[in-house]
Amino acid sequence: MLSFDNNPGLLQFNILQRHPEVLHFVTTRQRPDGTGNDFNIGYSGGSHDDCVNNRLALCKAVGLGPEWFVFQNQVHGCNVHVVRKGDGASGFYDKESAVRDNDVLVTDEPNVCLITRSADCIPVLLYSPDTKSCAAVHSGREGTYLGAAVEGAKALKVNFGADYAKMIACIGPGICKDCYEVDSNCAAKFMDGNRFPSDTYTVKGKKVYLDLKRMIFYDLLTLGIVANNIEISDICTKCANDRFFSARAGDKQRFCAGICVFG
Ligand SMILES: [Zn+2]
Repeated sequence: MLSFDNNPGLLQFNILQRHPEVLHFVTTRQRPDGTGNDFNIGYSGGSHDDCVNNRLALCKAVGLGPEWFVFQNQVHGCNVHVVRKGDGASGFYDKESAVRDNDVLVTDEPNVCLITRSADCIPVLLYSPDTKSCAAVHSGREGTYLGAAVEGAKALKVNFGADYAKMIACIGPGICKDCYEVDSNCAAKFMDGNRFPSDTYTVKGKKVYLDLKRMIFYDLLTLGIVANNIEISDICTKCANDRFFSARAGDKQRFCAGICVFG
């Protein structure tokens, strides 16, 4: 991944660089102004005021106002919310006004920034250049099983007419296949049938290690998104816990990924 505007605290995917009409970012622990390593974007991970101030610092760093942002209250599901202009600033200043019970935000409205929060769960950003529509998806273990990223891509097609063959998918920093140990009962449903190829999990005795990023990749391929249009971040949030928040490492804080199309 690349630095956003030469700022080591904010990252970008290589694959979206050729689309200047898209602004996107992934935050890290590092404050964009370089003053600390506690850049929490989630309301459950610290004081309310600190989180608001961090979000305002993010606005400043990426050059967007709070009224552009749309946050969701994530529940490890695959519900889709189609964001309209009036949704601006949802969940920015408080948790209560975020889009409720939702893990997939999609829009074709310009100048709206869709946000997904994470700490090990995989953030997925989708962009459809033909319809100028985009999605931000929260895909942890349950979301990946439920196909949250696929639901996001389908919503871009159904609502806005996006073509899978032109769609771009960015699979963000999240827990890696060496770190994501689950018990065999939990793993069974992932290993059942042919949906996930055998390179998406490793069995070591009673423990199974899941590769959520690769599962999402295969699901998107099956849907019709082209491999060349999918970028997978090689950053593991637990291995790189010095740079990212990780739930498995005990962090309550969250980083975020956001995407916005300029109109
Ligand atoms: Zn790891």
